Amino acid sequence: METERPTDFIREIIDEDLRLNKNKGRVATRFPPEPNGYLHIGHAKSICLNFGIAAQYNGTCNLRMDDTDPAGETMEYVESIINDVRWLGFDWEDRLFFASDYFERLYDFAVELIKKGKAYVCDLSPDEIREYRGTLTEPGRESPYRNRTVEENLDLFRRMRAGEFEDGSRVLRAKIDMASPNILMRDPVLYRIKRTPHYRTGKKWVIYPMYDFAHCLSDAIEGITHSICTLEFENNRPLYDWIINELIESEDKPKQIEFARLNLSYTVLSKRRLIELVEKGIVSGWDDPRMPTIAGMRRRGYTPRSIRTFCNKIGVAKNDNLVDISFLEACVRDDLNEIAPRVMCVMEPLKVIIDNYPEGKVEEIECANHPQDPSFGKRKVPFSRQLYIEKDDFSENPPKKYKRLSPDKEVRLRNAYIIKFSHLVRDESTGEIKEIHCTYDPTSKDGPPADGRKVEGVIHWVSATHAIPIEVRLYDRLFTIEDPASKGDDFIKYINPDSLKVLYPCYGEPSLKDAKPKDRYQFERIGYFCVDVKDSTSNKPVFNRIVSLKDTWAKLKVN
Ligand code: ATP
Ligand code: MG
Repeated sequence: METERPTDFIREIIDEDLRLNKNKGRVATRFPPEPNGYLHIGHAKSICLNFGIAAQYNGTCNLRMDDTDPAGETMEYVESIINDVRWLGFDWEDRLFFASDYFERLYDFAVELIKKGKAYVCDLSPDEIREYRGTLTEPGRESPYRNRTVEENLDLFRRMRAGEFEDGSRVLRAKIDMASPNILMRDPVLYRIKRTPHYRTGKKWVIYPMYDFAHCLSDAIEGITHSICTLEFENNRPLYDWIINELIESEDKPKQIEFARLNLSYTVLSKRRLIELVEKGIVSGWDDPRMPTIAGMRRRGYTPRSIRTFCNKIGVAKNDNLVDISFLEACVRDDLNEIAPRVMCVMEPLKVIIDNYPEGKVEEIECANHPQDPSFGKRKVPFSRQLYIEKDDFSENPPKKYKRLSPDKEVRLRNAYIIKFSHLVRDESTGEIKEIHCTYDPTSKDGPPADGRKVEGVIHWVSATHAIPIEVRLYDRLFTIEDPASKGDDFIKYINPDSLKVLYPCYGEPSLKDAKPKDRYQFERIGYFCVDVKDSTSNKPVFNRIVSLKDTWAKLKVN
């Protein structure tokens, strides 16, 4: 794994805690997703942070399903989360936990709070509770049920659990301070009645703890030392501390630390919005390669290492900002540049006939699989009289500085010969160019031409008789504007209608016959591609474009 040791304000807090020998020198973190959707790149930031800190400090990081709200939670999501975190390269060993396993203990904690006179059963309706809560400028009012006796509260809470009351008719509330400037401290709800079956506990429970109650206590149960979460929980921290201080004796108490969530341009990172894209069929599923989900990025061909690098490089801060998606793409590109073997593939074919090349002759041309790394070895690519090149690598009336093939400019075929334009044949009905005829310089294969003339352009090609037809899926940004989340529920109006372009047939060199699902390649001069795991077949291989190519081989690049 990456050896870089980032520093940031969270690690500074941990360093200081260690210096003071807090938690007896232990560092324990957790990643606590709610299994109500697939993980996205924002979660990856949190995963890298929590597991990264644990690794750096010889500590532990738990994977905890934060599954205390039965609505929308499913086993499918649990499995996807497990799969995604593992794929990202992290290991929780035997520490996979479920907050729903703590329901009994959380109930006991609530009883304890009641016994201490610090919680009460309240019969106000949800609307009334809101009304009594007050506003930022006005204090709240105390609930008429606030001064129930401990006995009455214990009895009512037990009967809430036993299912004697309607959903929403009663709640358990903490007894804190209705005049607190922090509205979350105005007797927050700790338990509610909800007759929704839970994907793990079924109908066993009809009361469920609220996030603020369950989360901090789950942290305490697991011995978490640093409970790292996103900034929107900053106002919840006093409540986190209040509950912990009331119920946890140990001097080693978990501490909540907030950091800025990741926002990424041209996409949305909210489960609710991502679910909408899936349910409305705007994408093909959670793993649609355009989705900012881990599953989508995996299918598209992103490497786990590039995602980890991205997360480490953006770092953690205290202010929200919008990270440019091209930065993520650059991380992916850098990684693929090292690991992807090169092949040639023509996206939009134009037939080239080499008139002076013998009919029926085939040369096997040795090509390096990686320009910088000889350990990738070599492969043989057939060369013959009929080739395909890209349509836009030929121009009849070239603009100035055009370095590809044109009537008066020779070009080198990558790894092979220099060719020169002779004439072209048009489709009589459409006027389009059907094929072009060229001649080749037989002496030019292994180096610059003997007569010293300069040929600047290099283009890729495949042998038309040997190439295999493939489908190529070109992905672009999912949204047309930088910050679709800023449009609220209208975000969906800004979907990029051209976010997927399918090309067929494209022609790949014959070595691509051996490509297996998930294999990644660089199509020279085009970009990085990955064999689609779902739709690719041996009859019709399907390649997803992972990311386009930046100008990495400047000298060879032709425009
Ligand atoms: P959403 O807002 O998409 O519904 P969530 O925060 O409710 O996401 P959880 O399953 O509760 O989703 O998130 C698990 C953890 O991942 C939490 O600790 C949360 O703070 C963190 N997380 C979620 N989104 C981001 C993000 N965009 N950047 C960084 N961390 C995130
Ligand atoms: Mg959440």
